[in-house]
Amino acid sequence: MGVALRAVRAVFLASFLAAALAGCAKPVSVTDDVGSLALQYRDPVQTSSARAVSATQLDQAVPKRIFSNGSLPGRTLEVATTSDIILRPGEVILTFDDGPRAGKTPAILDTLDQYGVKATFLMLGSAAKANPRLAQQVAQRGHTIGSHTYDHVDLSKLDRQAALAEIARGEAAVADALGGAGQGLAPFFRFPYLAQTGFLRTTMLSGDMVVLDVDIDSKDYYKDSASVVAGRTLSRLEARGSGIILFHDIHQRTVDMLPAFLAELEARGYSVVNLVPKNSVFGRSVITAGNPETRSEF
Ligand SMILES: [Zn+2]
Repeated sequence: MGVALRAVRAVFLASFLAAALAGCAKPVSVTDDVGSLALQYRDPVQTSSARAVSATQLDQAVPKRIFSNGSLPGRTLEVATTSDIILRPGEVILTFDDGPRAGKTPAILDTLDQYGVKATFLMLGSAAKANPRLAQQVAQRGHTIGSHTYDHVDLSKLDRQAALAEIARGEAAVADALGGAGQGLAPFFRFPYLAQTGFLRTTMLSGDMVVLDVDIDSKDYYKDSASVVAGRTLSRLEARGSGIILFHDIHQRTVDMLPAFLAELEARGYSVVNLVPKNSVFGRSVITAGNPETRSEF
């Protein structure tokens, strides 16, 4: 039984890794934070139509769906692995990358508090180091914190050891910044630009890291108005029905759009899932440049 199960897992893993490798792509440009995203999933909503969604349309009443219990704050989902992240229809996970940033992150936290929902913040080591009090504030207010490398580099362009060192450096810096918060760093990670390699993803997953993918990209790094960002994100969510939403807590338009966006989620009957690590030893760095496992070939 055990052997058969392992064989099944091995086959599954092999096919998964092939898919992961096929989906590995370079970002479109340096300024496009997740330029590779389009290559990883097909978005049925065209940008042009999404842009047509106006603030006025957002104000229109949309019938509540039956999938919600009527509460915007949703369940807490404990995950030990990436594959544990299974959402039901109508459930979303809010993620904020690249912070913390003074003047932006506190406003995001206030809005999340106002709606009683929790988010996951994938912090840059450099940003956490520059704003340790802010990083601690995010933790103290009950949100989950993961890492996103130290300096937001495209890991697919580095050699393996350099890439792992960058990930470890980011983790360590965020953990250091959180030192006084009473809550450590969750073993959650997101690839900058979503630029991964099969080797890096495999290494992360085998090191008990939870790699956070993106289902719905708000594209809040585009120079659009807050209402355009909200409309685009809602359109994509409606097309998909659930998913992990990518925002960045470093943009004013994200600060500006969040209250209306959350109000609309509530009106449409969605719920926000609180993603937390399961049985994890907080604060440890499971990926190190010197880990013998990282030298295995793939
Ligand atoms: Zn990023």
